[in-house]
Amino acid sequence: MSSQITQLSLTGSPRARAEALFALADRLLAIAAEHGPDDGSLQPERFRASVARWRAELVAEEDPDRITAVTAEACPAVADFLERVEAYHKDRESELVDLVHVLRDVVDAVRGDSQQFELELVRSTNELGRMVEIEDIRELKRTLSREVKVLKEAVAEHRASEAKRYATLNTRVQSLEQSLKKARADASTDALTRLPNRGAFDTALREWVSSAGRDRAPFALAMVDLDDFKRINDTYGHPVGDRVIVALAQLLGSAIEAGEVAARFGGEEFALLLRVASAGKAKQRITTLLESLPPAYQYEVDGKKGFVAFTFSAGVTAWTAGDTTESIVKRADEALYDAKRRGKRRVETRPQAFLRGLMGG
Ligand code: GH3
Ligand code: MG
Ligand code: MG
Repeated sequence: MSSQITQLSLTGSPRARAEALFALADRLLAIAAEHGPDDGSLQPERFRASVARWRAELVAEEDPDRITAVTAEACPAVADFLERVEAYHKDRESELVDLVHVLRDVVDAVRGDSQQFELELVRSTNELGRMVEIEDIRELKRTLSREVKVLKEAVAEHRASEAKRYATLNTRVQSLEQSLKKARADASTDALTRLPNRGAFDTALREWVSSAGRDRAPFALAMVDLDDFKRINDTYGHPVGDRVIVALAQLLGSAIEAGEVAARFGGEEFALLLRVASAGKAKQRITTLLESLPPAYQYEVDGKKGFVAFTFSAGVTAWTAGDTTESIVKRADEALYDAKRRGKRRVETRPQAFLRGLMGG
């Protein structure tokens, strides 16, 4: 634009040039009025005054040198003003771009949040819609930042309530996990003696049998049964019988080592899985237990104290290659039967299958 003005100042008659400059100055004024924003730094009023002054001088002036001098002053001033107008619009444009980014951030912040937000969002959306109608970018920014603050607070509040809800849920899940753990433990525990029950024993025995061959982990099984227990029940009553069962359970439970199993097999019968390589070693351990029984056991039922004597018999056998859970239990039962048959209060063993084979039985 400035080069066009300079050219105009160099050709034609002074009047024609002056006319051209008037026209141009008017056009520039029109542009300035159109684009001249209400921004103090651009000083549009001052520019308009300068244009008016140049115009007045050009109208009055006849001297071509003087006209050229006025033109030389006016051209760079006009060019400078237009550049500043252009820069102002660029700034304004980039501020609008910023505005769009802020809006996008707000949308991101609330995206995925739940219903509670809807009212807040509708309100804010209305507010944002109204803001589009505000022409002053500063006011627009102020209003927008107010709205962003409100939305951010709403997001923070929502997160806090979510965190609270999560904590409550977490506590509930934890207590359910505890209940489940307890239920599982209860399901495998005998209610009277607190020893593993028959189901838990069967599971353990399956594991011990399958790992015995695989991991070369020999073991022995002992079946333990109270002697003449029916008579104890008959003489002292069922509750005392229960105390005796618990007393024997405690004795067996405290006699095993870590990793071994003492379980209530059923009624007044118990089963032990012992980490020993031979039936002889198992027999030794159980005989020691049998000998450690007190001559009389003191009980208390319904505040009444008394003494009851009890003994047990046991059948022991060691795992041998080829054993199944059934075969090893059967052999231990046979050994127990031997112990009962041979007078009770004793421990008997049954030789392993291959030894029996060697002995021809
Ligand atoms: P043996 O010396 O041959 O083992 O004779 P026993 O009397 O101990 O054996 P028997 O199988 O004849 O009787 C076992 C009794 O144990 C019968 C049953 O009523 C009783 N019994 C089973 N479970 C319980 C229990 O939980 N509590 C009580 N008090 N008695 C039980
Ligand atoms: Mg018995
Ligand atoms: Mg029995």
